Amino acid sequence: MKAMVLTGPQKIGIQEVPMPVIGPNELLVKLSNCGICTLEQRLYTGAMVIHYPIIPGHEAAGEVVEVGAEVLGDFKVGTRVALDLVVRCGECYYCRTGQSNMCQNRLKPGQKVLGGFAEYRAVKATQAYVLADSLSFPEAAFSEPLSCCIRSLKKVGLRLSEDLLVVGAGPMGQMHLQIALCMGARVFVSDPDKARLALAKKMGAFLTIDPTSEDLVAILKEHTEGRGVDACVVTSAAHAALNGAFASVRKNGRVNIYTSYPDKPALPVDANTLHRNELTITGNEGRMEEDYLQSVRLLSFGKVNVKPLISRTVGFSDLEDGIKAAMTQDTYRVLLEHRA
Ligand SMILES: [Zn+2]
Ligand SMILES: [Zn+2]
Repeated sequence: MKAMVLTGPQKIGIQEVPMPVIGPNELLVKLSNCGICTLEQRLYTGAMVIHYPIIPGHEAAGEVVEVGAEVLGDFKVGTRVALDLVVRCGECYYCRTGQSNMCQNRLKPGQKVLGGFAEYRAVKATQAYVLADSLSFPEAAFSEPLSCCIRSLKKVGLRLSEDLLVVGAGPMGQMHLQIALCMGARVFVSDPDKARLALAKKMGAFLTIDPTSEDLVAILKEHTEGRGVDACVVTSAAHAALNGAFASVRKNGRVNIYTSYPDKPALPVDANTLHRNELTITGNEGRMEEDYLQSVRLLSFGKVNVKPLISRTVGFSDLEDGIKAAMTQDTYRVLLEHRA
């Protein structure tokens, strides 16, 4: 089969690799689409290394073409699925205590991670989530990032009718916005990019704010009787975004650091403010099985519209171009179309 193989920093190319052979508990899936995420960009630049060679891609969807003899679920040849391409071991402390996103063995040598940039992928049946017929494969390729945003809003404890500030209106910010609306929140979105704010407004943001030309904190206070928002999610890795987040939440407010950082900035909040205002600060890493299931259901129910987030579709031959394009400010998601 055809696959895009990364053999070193900025060394990626099409290779013929052996077709995966499935075990008795596995499915063979013919992939249709796979998103290019920040993880793939980091692997490509060499900022992150798992091992070489590796087939990147972890936001994949496709169709089951072979079912292992001992698969118990309702999977048949032709079942359309989204894939969670990070294996959970099921054996470690975290997996056994309902924290599988922290699985200690998920990147251990021998674990089959990623692999979405190939024509086929063998997965454990537990990694496949069934899609509604109405959901296209390009949309289904958003199941993974959307599931991380769902986890993020759980971590920040978003409750019905709360005020939420989403910092950053890139793909992750836009997805947070739409899930938060499903959860009954009033959502403010801040970003210095006018086009991104315009999309957030169209997607249902209550108010969009450019923090470089407007007084973010004053505007939020004006709409919340002077308190500030109940919760804030930071989806932008800009340091200035962190300042805005901590200044925007009310007493007893919550901040979730959703984004990861290329550097390691210190938080712009002093211990006394944390103490006096009873602030809660969280982070979040990946997602759990329930988050993924809920993500696929939200997409399948048509509750979240990811179509405006598809900036461009590439084939294997221009995938490297696509990875570079995905790193620019004017794209949301670039998708690999396996048959293109
Ligand atoms: Zn584990
Ligand atoms: Zn991702």
